[in-house]
Amino acid sequence: QQITNHLPTAELQALDAAHHMHPFSTQSELAAKGARVITGASGVTLRDSEGVEILDAMAGLWCVNVGYGREELAEAAARQMRELPYYNTFFMTTHVPAIALSARLAELAPGHLNHVFYAGSGSEANDTNLRMVRTYWAEMGKPSKQIVISRWNAYHGSSVGSGSLGGMKGMHAQGGMPIPGIEHIDQPNWWAEGGDMSPEEFGLERARQLEKKIDELGEDNVAAFIAEPVQGAGGVIVAPDTYWPEVMRICRERDILFIADEVICGFGRTGQWFGSQTLDLAPDIMTIAKGLSSGYQPIGGSIVSDKVAEVIGATEFNHGYTYSGHPVACAVALENLRILDEEGIVTRVREDTGPYLKEKFEGLMDHPMVGEAKIVGMMGSIALTPDKAARARFASDAGTVGYMVRERCFANNLIMRHVGDRMIISPPLVISKSEIDTLIERAWQSLDEGM
Ligand code: PLP
Repeated sequence: QQITNHLPTAELQALDAAHHMHPFSTQSELAAKGARVITGASGVTLRDSEGVEILDAMAGLWCVNVGYGREELAEAAARQMRELPYYNTFFMTTHVPAIALSARLAELAPGHLNHVFYAGSGSEANDTNLRMVRTYWAEMGKPSKQIVISRWNAYHGSSVGSGSLGGMKGMHAQGGMPIPGIEHIDQPNWWAEGGDMSPEEFGLERARQLEKKIDELGEDNVAAFIAEPVQGAGGVIVAPDTYWPEVMRICRERDILFIADEVICGFGRTGQWFGSQTLDLAPDIMTIAKGLSSGYQPIGGSIVSDKVAEVIGATEFNHGYTYSGHPVACAVALENLRILDEEGIVTRVREDTGPYLKEKFEGLMDHPMVGEAKIVGMMGSIALTPDKAARARFASDAGTVGYMVRERCFANNLIMRHVGDRMIISPPLVISKSEIDTLIERAWQSLDEGM
């Protein structure tokens, strides 16, 4: 039997549930309800097997920054596949797509970040980072500096290393994570955890947890701190203004490296090329993936500072992936960066459509069920609450209400995601003002129905 778009949806769903194990899903739920079959997409709009159009306010998984249906990216892939479909960069060889992309990334990244190590995904890139910072300190003659500090509720990937760096307790409960040598501190989520403190006091308190943790572990044992500029999959948690300057002070004074995970925040999402620029951070390494190719090809990597690259480069770094610097992925990423730049997409997010989205999104605060609305560039979240004055959380399983609202959005042909009791958006950066209006209308309607 030929399996094509032309099969009835129910048949596709049954085959899918029978043979395809989905990530982060309950397979029995898929079998009972049937997954929505996505058959095509253009701009910010997905189309399903019933011909229904859906506004994708998540840009896939926070990645389709230039929108769907870009012929230029298809062309770049086809051209590269014909010319050189694969070669590696392991043993004293290289190729032009990897050279060109690395040079371009060095140009776009803050001044001291000039070296790129490639991976196939963000997870792999964070595995690289874990090994790279430990190797850095060993080569610096401080081999005891091996512990990496991260934050609870962070998401840094799904491999054993990156999943351990992450702070998702549900993930840690399965399959032997976290691995030793990784410690977690609390996230700067004022709405949920700020208690009686002002956001400013709370930001300082959460930042100083890093210093306390370093004291507890001993500065000589700590290699690095890893964090996203804005925590994404953890619920789009925007730290209070006092948080980051204090974290940067601590990293500097306590001689530990800082890894900024830019997998979501990178490539225009926050209105600058990197979230580190929006929030004035000084990373030693930046993790990149997702928006690097707008998701058209799987590619990730680490942009490494001169300081770290010099030390790592003096020894053989016994690490790499078959698809590190895959030529097709590099060619597509390079073309994607050209589109972001030449169409002024990053500038538009910062100066035009981003501010428009912010105004509309913050307007959701007028809904009785919305306690907080936070947005930076084009990543935003709202906190659902039964009583906004009291900053109350839903009593039972907080996730239930979020799940319900997400289901209502889905039924209203809007993809928003929920993390516990927060609802998230991260639309393609090319979303127009009228599409933003539609997004907000559908979100409002779904909130009404979810009450
Ligand atoms: N880091 C962050 C901040 C992410 O959001 C993700 C994925 O969502 C990853 C790392 C892992 O990337 P990948 O799924 O490409 O392995």
